[in-house]
Amino acid sequence: MKKHNFSAGPSILPQEVFKEAAAAILDYNNSGLSILEISHRSKDFIAVMEKAKSLSLELLGLENKGYQALFLQGGASTQFVMLAQNLLESKAAYLNTGTWSDKAIKEARFFGEVIEIASSKDKNYNYIPKNYEIPDDVDYFHCTSNNTIYGTQLKEFPKANTPLVCDMSSDIFSRNIDFSQFSLIYAGAQKNMGPAGTTLVIIKESILNKVSRAIPNILNYNSHIDKESMYNTPAVFAVYVSMLNLQWLKARGGVAAIEKQNNEKAALLYSEIDRNSLFEGFVSRDEDRSAMNATFNLTDETFKEPFETLLKEAGISGLNGHRSVGGYRASMYNAMPLESVQLLVEVMQELENKI
Ligand SMILES: *Cc1c(COP(=O)(O)O)cnc(C)c1O
Repeated sequence: MKKHNFSAGPSILPQEVFKEAAAAILDYNNSGLSILEISHRSKDFIAVMEKAKSLSLELLGLENKGYQALFLQGGASTQFVMLAQNLLESKAAYLNTGTWSDKAIKEARFFGEVIEIASSKDKNYNYIPKNYEIPDDVDYFHCTSNNTIYGTQLKEFPKANTPLVCDMSSDIFSRNIDFSQFSLIYAGAQKNMGPAGTTLVIIKESILNKVSRAIPNILNYNSHIDKESMYNTPAVFAVYVSMLNLQWLKARGGVAAIEKQNNEKAALLYSEIDRNSLFEGFVSRDEDRSAMNATFNLTDETFKEPFETLLKEAGISGLNGHRSVGGYRASMYNAMPLESVQLLVEVMQELENKI
């Protein structure tokens, strides 16, 4: 039986995408070859890479605006290093909203001074700090748009006189914002874009070539731009499946259309968390709640066993919270159908009726 997958990542993808990817493993485009065995320099794969890049820019409304899309390896974690190495000359400002921001800060410190301009670490990251000032004399400002582990999301981004850099690993392509306010966006594919193995980097070319250090080629954005994401062998299959998923998104009306559905799913679950006295949300302010990852706890731990039995019977998978938060986390990425969230809500109500 196909399960309802609420996992935070690697995560759910549309069933249609899985089917097409599975067929391509056996025979790609009637070529008599598997997508896994063709050259990354073949016409067939170059077309996939081009499509993946152009769809990324198109869906974010960033075509013809001086941006490049790259599909790199090493995960978002490598971007923590690479972005600082390529952009940090003397000082950078970071907003610390969780484990991932914290890691990004630590990596950037290898390259220069990092000012943590605000942090929500004091409350185990259960809110988004606001009303901070970004100094003018920094090389860039870095934030994390969605905090996958804690279930918080930035709903507004600061205006700054410095390039904005954003880790959008867990909410890219989920909501319509003005993406042109960012100079660099990056996202590990495995949350809301595709399978693990590739990382999307969207970069405004005009911010490059401003640091004085020598950068090893493999970590230099210019190398990857020059070679159109083929500087080294790309993660062929991960890029292919990401491309299929972006095509799926475009066919469904793109980011604006999916945002409506994402909001509907989130509203449904959060209203149950608030209504049902057996549950409480982890995030302290409603306006900071993530539409992608909803974190919540049982108000009484003695209900843990019956709740988890009901979840299992319903075929709900991947609901356990991250170890640094505990409780539960329902990840409701683009591919998650409303029906799966409805089912989760029904299980929460069933638990209430049983007790
Ligand atoms: C998962 C995640 C990361 C880490 O991604 P890797 O691809 O495993 O390096 C970074 N940032 C955010 C917001 C994430 O959700």
